Amino acid sequence: QQLINLKNVSMIFGEGSQQTTALENIDLKVNKGEFICVLGPSGCGKSTLLKIIAGYQFPTKGEAVFQDRPIEGPDWHKAVVFQSPTLYPWLTVEQNITFGPRIRGVEREVIQEKTEHILEQIGLSQDAGKNIFELSGGMKQRVALARVLANEPELILMDEPLGALDALTRLNMQGLIRNVWKENGNTVLMITHDVDEAMALGTRVIVMSKQPGRILQEIEMDYTYSA
Ligand code: ADP
Ligand code: ADP
Repeated sequence: QQLINLKNVSMIFGEGSQQTTALENIDLKVNKGEFICVLGPSGCGKSTLLKIIAGYQFPTKGEAVFQDRPIEGPDWHKAVVFQSPTLYPWLTVEQNITFGPRIRGVEREVIQEKTEHILEQIGLSQDAGKNIFELSGGMKQRVALARVLANEPELILMDEPLGALDALTRLNMQGLIRNVWKENGNTVLMITHDVDEAMALGTRVIVMSKQPGRILQEIEMDYTYSA
């Protein structure tokens, strides 16, 4: 089942001599359940690609389709995790996670059950009542992921989510992300500049090249990494 379909997508910023081609003729199809890792040098258009899929930006040329419909903007079905998690600092871990479902009017019991499960999945059951300012960087990133999971998105987009973490925390988070993906069956598209990370997590690795932003190579992984 196809989730994303980018057809000949190009993205050009600016005009005349100030013009930058961020993406050129990108064709990309993503099926439900895939874990796509996007690699490439700085400035090759990775974030632009993610923003187009998220619905934050619109391609100058071509068509971006999500679940058989043109992407018209951001919505709950496509969740984004950024490198620096933006959490509600005045709310607790649990309140941050339940915020989305609550404003959507999901039933209280459903939210509670779901939240407990998510807290367990990401190893924060003991920290549910903590305030955000009490958390380490890795914990904040876990809360950011938990908050996204609470909305049950069809697609999770991550822009270098582990880039700001120390090596050990990053390894732990990689394992956690992999387990969550396996258990929940989400579709994930993650930008990283860490080749090992891409190899370990991706079911497909996409390598982009600069000038202009194109897909250089796609590598379908035929193994599952377990560590
Ligand atoms: P990456 O995420 O791979 O580092 P980006 O998608 O952020 O690359 O950027 C690709 C190119 O497009 C870069 O040259 C960048 O400077 C340019 N670019 C990105 N966003 C904008 C913007 N909003 N306005 C102008 N140029 C942009
Ligand atoms: P559609 O599902 O037909 O594409 P929308 O995306 O507008 O339409 O979603 C319809 C309603 O469902 C909206 O009120 C939206 O807030 C809510 N919604 C969207 N995604 C989710 C989700 N993953 N979980 C729960 N509610 C959602």
